Amino acid sequence: MAEKDYILKVDDLKTEFKVGKRVVHAVNGVSFNVERGKILCIVGESGCGKSQTVHSILQLLAENGYIAGGSVEYFKKGANKPQVLSSYSRNSKKIRAIRGKEIAMIFQDPMSTLNPVYTVGRQIMEMLLKHERISKKEAKARIMQLLNDLEIPTPEVRYDQYPHEFSGGMKQRIMVAIAMICNPDILIADEPTTALDVTIQAQILDLIRKMQQEHGTSVIFITHNMGVVAEIADDVAVMYMGRIVEQGTVKQVFTNPQHPYTKALMRSVPVMGMDKARALDTIEGTTPDASTVFHGCEFADRCTYATEACFNRFPIDTIIEDGHRVRCLLFEEGEQNAE
Ligand code: SF4
Repeated sequence: MAEKDYILKVDDLKTEFKVGKRVVHAVNGVSFNVERGKILCIVGESGCGKSQTVHSILQLLAENGYIAGGSVEYFKKGANKPQVLSSYSRNSKKIRAIRGKEIAMIFQDPMSTLNPVYTVGRQIMEMLLKHERISKKEAKARIMQLLNDLEIPTPEVRYDQYPHEFSGGMKQRIMVAIAMICNPDILIADEPTTALDVTIQAQILDLIRKMQQEHGTSVIFITHNMGVVAEIADDVAVMYMGRIVEQGTVKQVFTNPQHPYTKALMRSVPVMGMDKARALDTIEGTTPDASTVFHGCEFADRCTYATEACFNRFPIDTIIEDGHRVRCLLFEEGEQNAE
């Protein structure tokens, strides 16, 4: 089998936050690779550490957050060695040159990024001129082309309008435009469709897929919704309490889910094409507080398969097949089988 071409390698990443005298372990030894030109979805309930994982990649953590261990390596095409993003400080020139240009991000709430007092055209232009030495005339032509590609009607009118003149879905399209204008290698989308209604959500997913295919962009897509994963992902990483509990290709995880949490997530979320008569389950219990100290599997309190060992031993990754791994005692040698 040909060796995969990875654009990003995250290895044993640990991210912590200082909250008063406590240390909260938000990301707890997360490892994954992003294949060039593919879409990786990181999925899990809110508070599982998925947003903090991607914020760590770009050193966008809140002031009280820091990378406590592990590495993030970015493999720019043609470069002979990776850039170790985790070694850059949050305001360094190196990371600022990468943010927006090589790796761009779309956030859940467009208003946290869009400036209400500037026209959207000016905001897209600023991003482009910040990273590229081109004339304003050339820049405007590129923006118009992108607005057209993003199916924004009457782009010449929209260019001079302010964010409040756009609907939620249109604002999110502008966020995609700001993120894509420099043609980044990697697009990180942090729950970009959560606040939108289902039809608009589907349109934004289509646009991201279209941008990825036309520009060869690699995408990390954060979501809590397995339906969205089924729509858009090539690869999936399922997160729970700061750890990846299962990862594989979308086919492996959807046709052969192994971890009890993945199975519960799949039963609790409507997936396109699913039998309408089937009732959705809810996952028992709630996500533990982020500062909880565990002596075994973090999911044990909510897991219907839990045994005594689960409360007293940390599971390690078990390989199910090439590319598909699961972190659960049920699959470790000598433990009982999940079925
Ligand atoms: Fe459930 Fe035990 Fe597996 Fe954790 S290790 S997911 S508690 S069976």
